[in-house]
Amino acid sequence: MEIWRISLFSHHFMKRSCRSLFGRLSGFESEISNPRSSLGSIYKFGNSCGPSTKSSLELHQKKYTQLCCFLLRDHHNILQSSLAMRPDGTYRIHYRSFGSEATKIQRNPSFSTLTPDDIFYFKEILGEKNVIQDPDTLSTANTDWMRKYRGSSQLLLQPRSTEQVSLILKYCNSRRLAVVPQGGNTGLVGGSVPVFDEVIVNVGSMNNTISFDKVSGILVCEAGCILENLGSFLANQGFIMPLDLGAKGSCQIGGNVSTNAGGLRFVRYGSLHGTILGLEAVLANGTVLDMLGTLRKDNTGYDLKHLFMGSEGSLGIITKVSILTPPKLPSVNLALLACEDYFSCQELLQEAKRTLGEVLSAFEFLDNHSMDMGITEALAKAGAVYKYDLSLPVEQIYNIVEEMRLRLGQSAKVLGYGHLGDGNLHLNISTPEYNDAVLAQIEPFVYEWTSKHRGSISAEHGLGLMKANEIHYSKSPETVQLMVSIKKLLDPNGIMNPYKVLPYSLLS
Ligand code: FAD
Repeated sequence: MEIWRISLFSHHFMKRSCRSLFGRLSGFESEISNPRSSLGSIYKFGNSCGPSTKSSLELHQKKYTQLCCFLLRDHHNILQSSLAMRPDGTYRIHYRSFGSEATKIQRNPSFSTLTPDDIFYFKEILGEKNVIQDPDTLSTANTDWMRKYRGSSQLLLQPRSTEQVSLILKYCNSRRLAVVPQGGNTGLVGGSVPVFDEVIVNVGSMNNTISFDKVSGILVCEAGCILENLGSFLANQGFIMPLDLGAKGSCQIGGNVSTNAGGLRFVRYGSLHGTILGLEAVLANGTVLDMLGTLRKDNTGYDLKHLFMGSEGSLGIITKVSILTPPKLPSVNLALLACEDYFSCQELLQEAKRTLGEVLSAFEFLDNHSMDMGITEALAKAGAVYKYDLSLPVEQIYNIVEEMRLRLGQSAKVLGYGHLGDGNLHLNISTPEYNDAVLAQIEPFVYEWTSKHRGSISAEHGLGLMKANEIHYSKSPETVQLMVSIKKLLDPNGIMNPYKVLPYSLLS
C-alpha cells in the first residue's frame, strides 16, 4: 500500500519550524491540532486529516493535498519516516518503523542533565556562537545519515582548539555529563549520534592543515578536516590521501581515524593503522595526550595511538593526526568488468593481483541486484535497509548473500557488494518498510554465520550502537573484558560515547 512519507521531528522543532517548512509547499496550510494520541501527537497539514491513528493516515493516502505527521512522545519509539518529493511536486509519505537499540537500554542514571549553569560555562569558554541550542541544527545533529538512529541532545558544542576540547571534557567529566563526539556524521552504525541527551562535541571547526613535508609525504592536520579537502590540498602538492570513500565530501579525518575507516584504497595503501603515524587525543578528564609523532619507526613502549583508532569516540576525542600520504599517481586506469558468477570474480581478483601486483589500488564488486538499484543512496530511498559490513574469507563472501536470499524469499531484496580485494562484503537487505519479522530472520543468523566462518561482524564501519552487544561474535570474552578494563581506566565515569562499542551490561 502506498502511503505518504514525512520526517519525524521533536515537538519543539515541529512547533517552531513546520509551519515554515510546509508553508513553502503550494496548497499546504499547516495547522497543528489534536494535541495528543496514544502514540504521541499528530500534526495536520491541509484541511481534512483524519483522527490520530496510523490507519487513518493510510486511509488518506490518496489525497495528495494533505500531509500528516506522527510525532512520538518518546523519541526512542519505533516509528520513523522520511520525506520524498514526487516529480509533480507533491510529497509522498512512507513509514519506516524499526526497533531502535535505544528501546533496549535505559539512560544511565548516574549521568546529569544540563542546567543553565552548564550552558553559561560553555558559552564562557567557547563563545556564544559555538554553543548551539538551535532546534533545527540539533535535529540534524541528533539524526544519523541513514535516519535510523535519533537522539535528543539539547546541546552541540563546536570547539576551535585542543585546549577548548580539554576544558569541555574536564567539565563534563566533573559534572557527569555524557558526551558524543561527532565528525561528519556519516557513520553507518549509530555511533555518531546521541542515544539520549548526550552533549554533542563536533571538532569540525578545527580544520587547519598544520604542516606538510614534501620529502616524506607526511601531513599533520587538525581532526576536523574534511577528507575531500585534504585530498584537494594534497593534489596541489602532488600527493593523495591513502584512503578514499564515498562519504569523503562530509566525513572528517578525525571520524575516519576513530572508525579506522577502510574504503577504496585499502588494497594498495593498507589500513590506517599503518598510515597514521601519530595523533593527539583528549581523554575524558581533559588530559591531552600528545602522540603526534611523525616518525615511521618508533618502538618506545606501547604504541597507544592505536587504541584510539577504531575506538569510535569511546576513549577520548581525537584532535590532531599525522598521516603518511603517497605520491599522486601519474595516471589512473579503471576497468568495469562483467563476470558470469562469483567464482569468476574470484578468478579475476587472482589474475589482477598476479598481473598488476602492487599497482592494484582497489578491487570492488557489486552483484546485479545492486546494479539494478545504483547503491547506496538508492537503498535509503527504496524504504528500509538492513546493513551488514562483514569481513569473510573471500571464497565465502557470496555464500551468505545466497543463503540470505533463500532464507528471506520474496519478503526482501538481498544485495551484495563491497571491497572484494579486502574480503569485505556489504550485505544489504532492502524491504519497503522496517519489519520486526524480517529483522528476526536476519539477526542473529547473520552474526552466527559470520562467526562460524571466523569472519568479523564489522569490517570497517565499527560497532557503534547497532552492534555493541554483538561484539562477542568476533571477539573472545577475555579480549572483550580487557577492552572493558581499558575503557574503565581511561574513562572511569563512562561519559565518552556511552552505550556504544562495548556491551552496556559490562560497563554499568
Ligand atoms: P562520524 O560518523 O561523525 O562518527 C563516526 C564515529 O567516530 C562515532 O562513533 C563518533 O563518535 C566518532 N568520532 C567522530 N569524530 C571523532 C573525533 N574527532 N574523535 C573521537 N571520535 C570521533 N566507511 C568505510 O570504512 N569505508 C567506506 O568505503 C565507507 N563508505 C561510505 C559511503 C557512504 C556513502 C557513507 C554515508 C558512509 C561510508 N562509510 C564508509 C562510513 C563512514 O563514512 C565512515 O565511518 C567515516 O570514517 C565516518 O567519519 P565521520 O567524520 O562522518 O564520523
